[in-house]
Amino acid sequence: MSTTEELVDFDVALEKYDPVLGFEVHVELNTKTKMFSDAPNAFGDVPNTNVTPVDLGLPGVLPVVNKTAVEYSILIGLALNCKIAESCRFARKNYFYPDTPKNFQTSQYDEPIAYDGYIDIELEDGEVFRVEIERAHMEEDAGKLTHMGGSTGRIQGAEFSLVDYNRAGVPLVEIVTKPIVGAGKRAPELARAYVGAIREIVKNLNVSDAKMERGNVRCDANVSLMLKGADKFGTRSETKNVNSLRAVEHAVHFEIERHAAVLESGQKVVQETRHWHEDTRTTTSGRPKSDADDYRYFPEPDLVPVVTTPEWIEELRARLPEPPAERRKRLKAEWGYSDAEFRDVVNAGMTDLISDTIAAGATPAVARKWWMGVVSGLAKTQDVDAADLGVTPATIVELQGLIDSKKINDKIARQVLDFVLAGEGTPAAVVEKRNLAVVNDDSALGAAIDEAMAQMPDVVAKIQSGKVQAIGALIGPVMKATRGQADAARVREIVLEKLGM
Ligand code: ADP
Ligand code: MG
Repeated sequence: MSTTEELVDFDVALEKYDPVLGFEVHVELNTKTKMFSDAPNAFGDVPNTNVTPVDLGLPGVLPVVNKTAVEYSILIGLALNCKIAESCRFARKNYFYPDTPKNFQTSQYDEPIAYDGYIDIELEDGEVFRVEIERAHMEEDAGKLTHMGGSTGRIQGAEFSLVDYNRAGVPLVEIVTKPIVGAGKRAPELARAYVGAIREIVKNLNVSDAKMERGNVRCDANVSLMLKGADKFGTRSETKNVNSLRAVEHAVHFEIERHAAVLESGQKVVQETRHWHEDTRTTTSGRPKSDADDYRYFPEPDLVPVVTTPEWIEELRARLPEPPAERRKRLKAEWGYSDAEFRDVVNAGMTDLISDTIAAGATPAVARKWWMGVVSGLAKTQDVDAADLGVTPATIVELQGLIDSKKINDKIARQVLDFVLAGEGTPAAVVEKRNLAVVNDDSALGAAIDEAMAQMPDVVAKIQSGKVQAIGALIGPVMKATRGQADAARVREIVLEKLGM
């Protein structure tokens, strides 16, 4: 059960070995009802309330396939550039576990609904890496066990376990990649980007809530190492349920270092499942698993095959939204951002907010200035996600409007934003209430300017001798007298007027 004590440093490992990756990602579909019953598919309800005899596998029940779940599965297949089976069957995967009261999981085996696809994964620096998809098949989720009384929440050390069958029978699509070769040092980054891309795609299709923290998207990460230049893959480990993007990246990184240590010590990697531990960022041994694990799969006798017609598939294809990667390419061109600017926007998760702000009337440059500059800065100082600050595109457009009409300057606008976020109202209301409008009415400015000129006769003399840039020295005191609200350009004009220049 122990982890390998000594790891081989990641960079050292990759001088000698090439990593091979493979991902099995489970996506929970957000249909109204379950895969084979009319029980509600809902998260967070009172345990064991969304359960029918079908979900419990009681004698004599008959399952019925959820048509919407099939359509969602086909949409996922199409979005992953897969072929869609003309006909496919469900199969029984037989095993006993208390979270699966039927004693088998209804899944698909040799006839997945979608197969042979690919997605192009864009890494953070813009490099594109193609990941081939082996299959995407339909199945049902298991119930949820909660192990009580232990310190870890795992079954070991627990006193008793609770079972909630609300999740039993929730529709899943399992997406399995072909072995991914050639990622080298970028393997952990690719792992993260791949799972992120799947999450983005299913969210964009609106077929899943796609919340990893709720388990809507769950990843098993397979890793093996082979000597550089070898043509046969090494033995893989399968780290189960790594349920955040960060964890997927760390798990692959860790497994590469661990595999290298095992191989360097002359031992063999054991083909097994591994548990991921977020606290230590390590994995520990789970159960041995051979490729021939005998689940005694056989075709599900209670369900007819799912037959897809070309018309149905084309109808679904027409429903596909613009793919996220293509949308990004289009937006980058429309907005005229540089590669680096656009990448920063994407990595900051600001694409939608900026898009909405432009749609609300801002120019691309202004939208970028606010979100990437001002709002990101605020988020950093408050240590929250920029999207969670509560800044809306409408607020940004209104603030910029006040700047453009010279009601306020840039600096005041940032203060106004603070007051808006503190709940004081719209930008215009804040400016009004707090009397923040730029002072450019000449009488108010004139008095402050007279005062400053009286106190700095030397500066005045300099200006009169032709050194017009000396006016800068007067602007500070005038700003001070007007609480930063003077219009600097207008101050300059008035000074020159007063001096008859
Ligand atoms: P299982 O259910 O037994 O885990 P799957 O076929 O569902 O098998 O998934 C295995 C995953 O591991 C696939 O993504 C596959 O491409 C990948 N894989 C297969 N062999 C290797 C290997 N030697 N190293 C890394 N990944 C592998
Ligand atoms: Mg599998």
